[in-house]
Amino acid sequence: MRVVPIVLAALVAVPPALAQRTVVHCGTLLDPATSMEPMRERTVVVADGRVVEVVAGFTADADAIDLRGATCMPGLIDSHTHLTGESRKDGYIDAFRLTAADRVLAAVPFARSTLMAGFTTVRDVGSNEGADYALRDAINRGDVAGPRMFVAGKSLSIMGGHADPTNSYREDIVGVPDETDGVVNGPASAQQAVRLAIKRGSDLIKFTATGGVLSLQGDGSGAHFAEDEMRAIIETARERGLTVAAHAHGDDGMQRAIRAGVSSIEHGTYMSDETMAMMRQAGVYLVPTITAGKSVADSARIEGYYTPVVTQKSLTIGPLIQDTFRRAYQAGVPIAFGTDAGVFRHGRNANEFVYMEEVGVGFMDALRFATVNAADLLGRSETLGALRPGYVADLVAVMGDPLADASAMLDVAFVMKDGRVVKRDGQFVPSPERAR
Ligand SMILES: [Zn+2]
Repeated sequence: MRVVPIVLAALVAVPPALAQRTVVHCGTLLDPATSMEPMRERTVVVADGRVVEVVAGFTADADAIDLRGATCMPGLIDSHTHLTGESRKDGYIDAFRLTAADRVLAAVPFARSTLMAGFTTVRDVGSNEGADYALRDAINRGDVAGPRMFVAGKSLSIMGGHADPTNSYREDIVGVPDETDGVVNGPASAQQAVRLAIKRGSDLIKFTATGGVLSLQGDGSGAHFAEDEMRAIIETARERGLTVAAHAHGDDGMQRAIRAGVSSIEHGTYMSDETMAMMRQAGVYLVPTITAGKSVADSARIEGYYTPVVTQKSLTIGPLIQDTFRRAYQAGVPIAFGTDAGVFRHGRNANEFVYMEEVGVGFMDALRFATVNAADLLGRSETLGALRPGYVADLVAVMGDPLADASAMLDVAFVMKDGRVVKRDGQFVPSPERAR
């Protein structure tokens, strides 16, 4: 994890006597870490960016934030985003046009709309040119409004695989990729690529265990990486305290990744019953990304949106993901909420709740996936994903009742991140020091 210089930490610390106390009155509180039942009339007390206590009933504080007509819950976590890009027609030319600076500046509104949608934390699983490191650091400094980011840097791929950035382009122009581009061949090369990613600032590692939909190569689901390469990635990351996410559509690639010790399978489209049993047994999370599946299929129906090969893959794979999620849920596979935002417009992450509800998942379970489970996948279950004493004070509220209708999550009225109100009455609240 990032090392905070001791001097800086000393400057930031506020003496307890000066700590400002914020009190929030919640008509209903949903917090799967505490109870799978709704809790009526709760007061959440916050100081120094942390939850101090949650008490039954409403306190007499005159300056309390009044959410008595609202449903409160912990800040939401999206375990699969790409904040430094967004899908658009003919977007493949961006590889040749955009610098890291272009990508980061373009991402500023993406980060803000994600936060305004109630997502106070994201696990950002794949970026280019190191743009995700710069965005994360700018958000942590308070220069840019956005969710707390845990970033993977460049996704690791085999040569010609799903995240090889040079696929289908002229070799005399783009060259032959290597570890510096996140492209590996063999266990030693895989180890080198992981160490380079950590040196650059990655909080986790992502690799593409099978083909994928949006890359310019024909294989959407076949296994990529030999198992010894996967093992090298995962062991090298683990030694340094990082978790590893594996993108996978095909079943063979998933099984290799699970045997090699991966933390999560992203998408999981063609997952067999046998693979579900392996995941349940090993405690490997599925990050479903139903929204991505639906949105690539929708985009593929727009003439010329993707190249012909990507159009074909989008129409084949995209529509299957929701049913895979349903089967995995029913089979008891651990699930962490994740959408693949960036493949569709940022800020629409909460549609995933609606798609979960469509296949019979109750809202408290879906919320557990977006809080407790997602925090666990990040290795942050002691600080994130719950409104309990000592936890980071991230709190979201909606005026509707998501227990009755998950689409209430599409209209977030209030967002607190790190104990600071960033959205109130449905409006962005700029940071007082920086007014943005
Ligand atoms: Zn993705």
